[in-house]
Amino acid sequence: MKDCIFCKIIKGEIPSSKIYEDEKIFVFLDVNPSTNGHMLIIPKEHYQDLFSIDENLIIHAVKIIKEKLYPLMRERLHCDGLTISQNNGFGQEVKHYHIHVIPRYQNDQSNITYNQDIILPIDQVYSILKRK
Ligand code: 5GP
Ligand code: ZN
Repeated sequence: MKDCIFCKIIKGEIPSSKIYEDEKIFVFLDVNPSTNGHMLIIPKEHYQDLFSIDENLIIHAVKIIKEKLYPLMRERLHCDGLTISQNNGFGQEVKHYHIHVIPRYQNDQSNITYNQDIILPIDQVYSILKRK
């Protein structure tokens, strides 16, 4: 969709720290992470929210979280758990469906307010996640 920043990210018109991509979904680091390794999963086709998206895409996204993203977070970032969230309407800044995949750490404090003192620059997190 024209003027959608996430559609532009998929097309490469806006740069992003890409973690994973297949024919259905695109995964990249959130530019303003709640914790180190905070990722966003977006469908390649533009859907605004939960109420319009094809549910099969959500099933696919969950499979990718379980099989690829969480194992990667565990191995590279040594996280202790995972929080998944997804905003619709109120609280939704970008009107292209996205799932927040947020690794959790013993020291990141509460569910709501994460500890911003321990947030690393995105490039640093990206190189940890992508190094061979
Ligand atoms: P929402 O509030 O819509 O659930 O979350 C939108 C998320 O997208 C926010 O966490 C915000 O930091 C992230 N975001 C917004 N614009 C960009 C961008 O251009 N690049 C990246 N990587 N993340 C973005
Ligand atoms: Zn879009």
